[in-house]
Amino acid sequence: MLACVIHAAHDLRIDELPEPIPEPDEAIVQLGAGGICGSDLHYYHEGRVADFKLREPMTLGHEVAGTVVAMGDKVAGLKLGDQVAVNPSRSCGECGPCRAGRRNHCTKGQFFGSASRFPHMQGGFAERFRAKSEQCIRLGGNVPFPVIACAEPLAVCLHAANQAGNLLGKRVLITGAGPIGTLLATVARLGGAARIVITDLFAAPLALARQLGADQTINVAEESNGLAELVAKDGAFDVAFEAAGVAPALGSCIESLGPCGRLVQVGMFASGDVPLGKLLAREIELVGTFRFDREFAQAVRLLEENRIDVRPLITAEIPLKDAVGAFDLASNRNKSLKVSLVGAG
Ligand code: ZN
Repeated sequence: MLACVIHAAHDLRIDELPEPIPEPDEAIVQLGAGGICGSDLHYYHEGRVADFKLREPMTLGHEVAGTVVAMGDKVAGLKLGDQVAVNPSRSCGECGPCRAGRRNHCTKGQFFGSASRFPHMQGGFAERFRAKSEQCIRLGGNVPFPVIACAEPLAVCLHAANQAGNLLGKRVLITGAGPIGTLLATVARLGGAARIVITDLFAAPLALARQLGADQTINVAEESNGLAELVAKDGAFDVAFEAAGVAPALGSCIESLGPCGRLVQVGMFASGDVPLGKLLAREIELVGTFRFDREFAQAVRLLEENRIDVRPLITAEIPLKDAVGAFDLASNRNKSLKVSLVGAG
């Protein structure tokens, strides 16, 4: 069985691995499609994501959907041939955060294709992979797998929007027009935002963000004062989503928010200088957002019901065996947004 395995930075291989064997409560899912995420690209280029450093070879991939092809004898609620979206999170159900309904903060939580724990939890960029039955959400079967695989980034955005609170009638700023920033624009639109402005350094993703729900885009590489001029003309923002994960973007969010504005940090943040004095003086609320919980099932339903159309995001569908080329394409922000790896069938 083929799998897309990261061994170290710049060392991504298509390895032949043994067939997975299910535990009693696990299904074996045959890959339909898997989206390449920014964190997969961090492992590819840097061998780490923030504090999560690669310590052993790991199959990448946490945005996956496919078909149930085998099951352990304790699996309930699934049958062979079911098409499923796979929630990449596993939680214990017993710790304090789990019992408080915050399974994304489970003290023993695991996540597909993440080096956050050791041994690392293997991911879903494989011809077949193991998933507990509660990770699998059955599909109606009418929506293509590359679309359903977007449920994971969409769930991240739904959770981030929940952290922001009510968006109805709000002026919303999003920094970073990658897949998360762009999906945040569609979610903010769904949430009734009055005005959505998104910034990036590249023209191509900004054009797509306009197509998907942003009212206005600013290329901060070309117009470094564009955001400040917009705030001077139209007024400050009520809510900002920082989805670039860089200090200058966080700084521009703080500069652009009005008093008591709310700032949600979505991008994995590398340290740097930010205008924290203004954060204090304006009583801006800065909140974090980490993965998702119930939002995964909501995301699957939104995609199945076509309430959010992610198809314009999907730049290419590339067979799993050609994953290294797919990662190179996904690394080019002017040529691609979401690259989907697809299984043989
Ligand atoms: Zn737990």
